Amino acid sequence: MDLAHEKYEALEHNILAANPAADAQRIRAAFEYANDHHGPQLRKSGEPYIIHPIAVAEIVNELELDQDSIIAALLHDCIEDTDSTHDDIARLFSPQIADLVEGVTKLTRMQYTSREDEQMENLRKMFMAMAKDVRVILIKLCDRLHNMRTLQYQSDAKQKEKALETMEVYAPIAHRLGMQKLKWELEDLALEYLDPVGYHDVKAELANITTLHAGFVDSMQAHIEQRLSEEGVKCRVYGRLKHIYSIYRKMYAQNKTLNEIFDLYAFRVIVDDIPACYNVLGCVHDMFKPVLGRFKDYIGTPKPNGYQSLHTTVVGREGIPFEVQIRTWQMHQTAEYGVAAHWKYKQGMANQRLGTEREFEWVRKLLESQQDADPDEFVRTLRVDMFSDEVFVFTPNGDVKSLPAGATPIDFAYSIHSAVGNSMTGARVNGRIVTFETPLKNGDIVEIITSKSARGPSRDWMKICKSNEARNKIRQWFKKERREENIATGRSMFESELKHLGLTLAAITATPDLLDTLLKRVRFGSLDELYAAIGYGGLSAQKAAGRMKEEMTRLGRLERQRAEHEAMQAAVSSGETVYPSTAKTSAPARRHSVSGIIVEGLDNCMVKFSKCCTPVPGDPVVGFITKGYGVSIHRRDCPNADPARRKPEEEGRWVRVSWAETGESTFRTSLEISAKDRDGLALDVAMALSAQKAKLNTLAARSQPDGYAIINLELFVQDQRELTGVINKLSQIPGVFLVRRVGG
Ligand code: MN
Repeated sequence: MDLAHEKYEALEHNILAANPAADAQRIRAAFEYANDHHGPQLRKSGEPYIIHPIAVAEIVNELELDQDSIIAALLHDCIEDTDSTHDDIARLFSPQIADLVEGVTKLTRMQYTSREDEQMENLRKMFMAMAKDVRVILIKLCDRLHNMRTLQYQSDAKQKEKALETMEVYAPIAHRLGMQKLKWELEDLALEYLDPVGYHDVKAELANITTLHAGFVDSMQAHIEQRLSEEGVKCRVYGRLKHIYSIYRKMYAQNKTLNEIFDLYAFRVIVDDIPACYNVLGCVHDMFKPVLGRFKDYIGTPKPNGYQSLHTTVVGREGIPFEVQIRTWQMHQTAEYGVAAHWKYKQGMANQRLGTEREFEWVRKLLESQQDADPDEFVRTLRVDMFSDEVFVFTPNGDVKSLPAGATPIDFAYSIHSAVGNSMTGARVNGRIVTFETPLKNGDIVEIITSKSARGPSRDWMKICKSNEARNKIRQWFKKERREENIATGRSMFESELKHLGLTLAAITATPDLLDTLLKRVRFGSLDELYAAIGYGGLSAQKAAGRMKEEMTRLGRLERQRAEHEAMQAAVSSGETVYPSTAKTSAPARRHSVSGIIVEGLDNCMVKFSKCCTPVPGDPVVGFITKGYGVSIHRRDCPNADPARRKPEEEGRWVRVSWAETGESTFRTSLEISAKDRDGLALDVAMALSAQKAKLNTLAARSQPDGYAIINLELFVQDQRELTGVINKLSQIPGVFLVRRVGG
């Protein structure tokens, strides 16, 4: 039998020992497949390559992960290092196993070249986020552990690189997953390559001191066991020296000597239940002198990664202090194997010593996830959801960038520098040219192609990018670089939005007062500024137009309220006229009206000129709010407006009005001429009007039985002055003895 088969037989034996129900045939098929595919490949040690996957499967089995994990461990380098594919594995084994192998392959391909501290947390997050299934991380940790155990065959540079990665990425992840045992071994192995001198110093000192303390651990262990057995406590006691890296840190980071370290030795007392833990604590404190301030109850208050135990430090024989950790079997599994303990529990349940599913509550806490999932399902398909809103990608130099999920090359470019984004002409992801819309995935290596002659970002980029950083930087660019263009674009966008809301630009710009108010509402000094902001994307055209409409509606409502209020006040002030000085106190907003009339307190209301008195500009006038036809304008001397004749219940409807200075419109008015009837009279009237440039609308002449005639005219004039001129001219016509305004 060759070495590969020899090693495999040992593995299979161990697998069946841990789990007699394991499907040995399937596992063997995985081994044969991997063995065939790796073929004559050798490791740096000179051993056949297959020895490595077998060793990784051994560690996976020690963690007592499930059978799929063991098979995936055997196959874990097939996709990376042989011509095997995901499809092959899915077909021959299962899609789940193929996914596990592919997941491990992705993590293998990650390059941790960064040396920046702030990058490390991102690296760890990316590592966790890339694995959709926590078993992928566990298998990868086992892979790394075996590679660290055999690191002596690698080059110096490779050793340092792998050791640093292990210390900065893998060990913290093992810690986060609660896997102390694996973490300690990784840390000690990494330290040996990172600081060989420090490592060997500590190791030598520890060897010294343990020689000095010869037999200490064994005798202390026996001593404790005996006492607890006398007390009737069922337990196991393990004594050990703490791992090298934890002592190294205390000596170097905290600058302590070995003698100052209280917890060089640690004893674990493992019992069946929690009451027994406190019972043991009492016994230990009875046997040895406790060190003040060193008792910690992590049962009542577990550590964030789920760790539970009672810790105390006591002073033993010859004044040697040591730590005692007291815990139940279940707490022990959790402490040693963390997340991996889940599968251990599952299998252990058959031999009855372990708890129920309810106990896996800590797994959730461990990963700080609030997910309300069935614990088994949760662990099995554990996505590291705390990073699901982030994506982690590499620069070509190996720096890690954290971007929002769904981020594109545009986000990436702007996360490097706005100059990179602004001069971007293309992007490569993992060496391939991609479109700007391509969503980036965890672990992608992204390269931005720039050009000095780039035309700058396009407006569409703002819709494509996911990060506010990119959006803001693109906006800044448009704001600075393209003002003229922005104004033009913004104006047309704004106009089309207004149209959508049934408004026109003219309606807004017609009156400067209104425009000012509206611009203030959107906080811009001029229309150009508003257009520019819309143009570069600082303000949406829809929003701007919406605010304009809102504001116009609001102003209209205010005016109506004011008019109603004034009308009420007027109604209260008994039978007085509405236009005396009392009204002056309410400073009315001067609003221009297309009709040439300003109605105080009412904006844009419908105005008509009463037929009874046909007022023209310059006439003293008063308004009456009709039921349904707006405000009707009367001359003050109109009999219908005579305060003496007004109906008291309508007093509130009379409002102050005045003429606007328009100079544009003309007003229709009526005159009545009394004259001695004669031939050509009507013609003379028409001639006189024509001479005065007054436009005649209608003329009706009727003869009276007594030889006189009455002529009724309807004509258009601009104002009272013009009308007076017309009346004078008409009065000079021979035979005319009276010209009067109708209704006066
Ligand atoms: Mn490997």
